[in-house]
Amino acid sequence: MRGHLSHRYLIALGSNRRHVRHGGARRIITAALAAIGALDARVLAVSPTMTSRPLGPSQRDYANAAAVIETALRPRELLRELQRIELDFGRRRRGRRWSARTLDLDIVLWDGGVFSDDALAIPHPHFRERDFVLGPAAAIAGRWRDPVTGLSLAHLHARLTKP
Ligand code: AMP
Repeated sequence: MRGHLSHRYLIALGSNRRHVRHGGARRIITAALAAIGALDARVLAVSPTMTSRPLGPSQRDYANAAAVIETALRPRELLRELQRIELDFGRRRRGRRWSARTLDLDIVLWDGGVFSDDALAIPHPHFRERDFVLGPAAAIAGRWRDPVTGLSLAHLHARLTKP
């Protein structure tokens, strides 16, 4: 066992596009979870897949989910693996901001607290305002605390969805 070398990460998965091989957004999420499970990582929890309306002018619905994984990969190593999976699913990395994305994988939190370099920021800078991230995340890791605000995911989610 790697023991102390392991880290826990909370990953957010999103898709809003049909994929020729995998079908609709929900099925892309399922296939992406399998790809994450094939990394040198242990999948500890997977949320239900939820659908939501897109934020921009896109006509398609998003499917979103979250997963908690344990791995010896460091943050930049994990980001590289997740980006490889995104590319495998045909994501276009340039173009319109709101262009349909086959698959988006973000590192939301890790158990190392705050991480920041030129390519990666953990906690993810925007996750506190995104119901489609906080909903699935709170469903599997509600007691996990954001190291920046000190609030749990359950609290952040409740705060966001309060009328
Ligand atoms: P986006 O197109 O909005 O998904 O942004 C992708 C870029 O965000 C990647 O090239 C990453 O280097 C960067 N990035 C910064 N923080 C994170 C994070 N926590 N998870 C994933 N990507 C991140």
